[in-house]
Amino acid sequence: MSNITVCARFRPLSSRERRDYGDSICIQRIDDETFSLKDEKEGDFKFTFDRVFYETSEQVDVYTFLARPIVRDAMKGINGTIITYGQTGAGKTYSMEGVNILDCDEQKKGLLSRVIDGFFEDISSSGESIKYTIKLSMVEIYMGKVRYNQQNPPSKILRGLYFLLQGSGFENPSKDLFDLSKDNIQIKESKSEGILLYGVTKIPLLDPAEALQKLSHGLDNRAVGETQMNMGSSRSHSLYIFTIQQEMNKDIRGKYGKLILVDLAGSEKLEKTGAEGRAFEEAKTINKSLSALGNVVCALTCGPTGRGNHIPYRDSKLTRILQDALGGNSRTALLCCCSPSPSNAAETLSTLRFGARAKHIKASPNIESNEDKHAKVLIAPSPTEDDSRDRTL
Ligand code: ADP
Ligand code: MG
Repeated sequence: MSNITVCARFRPLSSRERRDYGDSICIQRIDDETFSLKDEKEGDFKFTFDRVFYETSEQVDVYTFLARPIVRDAMKGINGTIITYGQTGAGKTYSMEGVNILDCDEQKKGLLSRVIDGFFEDISSSGESIKYTIKLSMVEIYMGKVRYNQQNPPSKILRGLYFLLQGSGFENPSKDLFDLSKDNIQIKESKSEGILLYGVTKIPLLDPAEALQKLSHGLDNRAVGETQMNMGSSRSHSLYIFTIQQEMNKDIRGKYGKLILVDLAGSEKLEKTGAEGRAFEEAKTINKSLSALGNVVCALTCGPTGRGNHIPYRDSKLTRILQDALGGNSRTALLCCCSPSPSNAAETLSTLRFGARAKHIKASPNIESNEDKHAKVLIAPSPTEDDSRDRTL
């Protein structure tokens, strides 16, 4: 059993924060793991995490500490998950994507491009004896009520489906970013294969440069998806799912690993959004899957509750997909992204409390289960896909 790695990252003050509040910040560094936070209303708090990245930390520091060991393990067939959490504007996407996935200087490259580099570094150092196939899927899960683009509304059937889904709070609309026609990715669970994203597109990655092109294509589609649904990225979760198939040789069955990177929707509370009436109702739904995530973390860390040992993974699509990452067969890291400004201290406190709680989750990554054809698999072969190797994963 190993704990989830939990880190906090403080971005530099934004120009707006500087303009309104000067240079003051609400946190004080104690060391690389510990800092204190001052909130005007709630008082002083001390937090200790596995590592704290302060505003002068570089992207490479975050990658090296938090992601590199998980990439290495994924290559060995151990599942991994890396999650960015925090209020809108706190640095989740900056940490994940950098500034621009294709045109980013070395220093600003985010986790995604560094993870891809890590895969190919490991492939080139592994020699000829092991053959790897790396594939990428990109899925966006949209929160809350969907407002249709009036110029280009979806079909009546789809609108009916969304209507039903919105009420249940369980099935948030989700898009396959490599095939926008797949806009309600189904999640299935099987005893032998674990959680499956059924029929999602898997793009093979051949080298780092080409991989970034593919990633960039998916990110462009995300913008299209958001416009279709009238949603901004702060109201959706982005999931980047890498699968790593390892074939040793004809006699030895290779291992299979998956690495999921998750850029979560903004975790801000309702009061802050100033939403009223219909917008307020919508904001409540937006937070549903994040509160489902909070409930799962709570159930995993608070021990038996009134509902026995029940962990409410099924309460949202996000928590179902992350079932393995949270308390299952995965090495998991959580990056709590925060603003250092006193004006955001309450949200920062809430983000850090989430991280502190997640720290107590026990996960149990298991290489054995990824060694044979009954390995846990995240992505099911598409029914139309004609790739015999995938079918045996
Ligand atoms: P989020 O995805 O959490 O909503 P973003 O990652 O988009 O937030 O960050 C908001 C803004 O802050 C962006 O302009 C981003 O470039 C900037 N930013 C975030 N983190 C950092 C950082 N560590 N260093 C420099 N700029 C950052
Ligand atoms: Mg973002």
